[in-house]
Amino acid sequence: MAASELNSISVPQGQPFDTQHPPDKKLMDTCVHCGFCLSTCPSYRVIGKETDSPRGRIYMMHDISVGKAALSETTVQHFDSCLGCLACVTTCPSGVEYDKLIAAMRPQIERHYPRSPYEQMLRKLIFSIFPYPQRLRMLLRPLWVYQKLGMQGWVRRSPLFKQLMPKTLAAMESVLPPLSAEAFQDRLPEIVPAQGEKRYRVGMILGCVQRIFLPEVNDATVRVLTANGCEVAIPKGQGCCAALSHHQGQEEQAKIMAPRYDRSI
Ligand code: SF4
Ligand code: SF4
Repeated sequence: MAASELNSISVPQGQPFDTQHPPDKKLMDTCVHCGFCLSTCPSYRVIGKETDSPRGRIYMMHDISVGKAALSETTVQHFDSCLGCLACVTTCPSGVEYDKLIAAMRPQIERHYPRSPYEQMLRKLIFSIFPYPQRLRMLLRPLWVYQKLGMQGWVRRSPLFKQLMPKTLAAMESVLPPLSAEAFQDRLPEIVPAQGEKRYRVGMILGCVQRIFLPEVNDATVRVLTANGCEVAIPKGQGCCAALSHHQGQEEQAKIMAPRYDRSI
């Protein structure tokens, strides 16, 4: 579906969502509000509010779908705080398909909630850099200098910086891992032979962000697979699997990226 078509999807009068895959009320109704999922939800554990838990978000989706609440800054922030880790799905004894609910909710938010200009700019930047490893690598040099000159430690210790930095930037900075030389280029070969007798052939996804910020995780994965008799195939030129875009409601970008990725593996 083209951008113009997506933008032209309108909300039927008196309805909170448009007809393009809205969250399914039947799925919402499977939640019995037992709260088992709360202890496994990282956003609830950090923020500590019901509205930042799976149960609270399902409540809000329900209230929005029946017109008791609106898509507003107050409600949207609680959907934004969901990491999409889906720990709640495996914990839920009632089998609530929260994954489908949040996947349906996010594109509705993107289409019908007007974000502030700052948020729009930040999101545009994220979606035009993070799914593209080569673009992300262009950012590495200044980040490398930032870390090597000891500025990172200074910024992290400075209470003034913490106050002055926009919250989202401060959050991103706080999870920036130490950069290694491997971050600057993919080093794993296209085929890594099995150790000993070959029992399986396995395709490996490097991950747009993981290959740059956590390459040791990919190295360890290859070691474990090959030690267990797997030949590991790592296709060159693999792009983004579209997960980032899909899980953030960027439907159009996801639809373009997913088939390309499919062809590269
Ligand atoms: S999502 Fe599942 S675990 Fe969480 S409150 Fe609903 S029924 Fe209980
Ligand atoms: S997917 Fe969202 S609601 Fe579920 S456990 Fe993760 S952060 Fe919590």
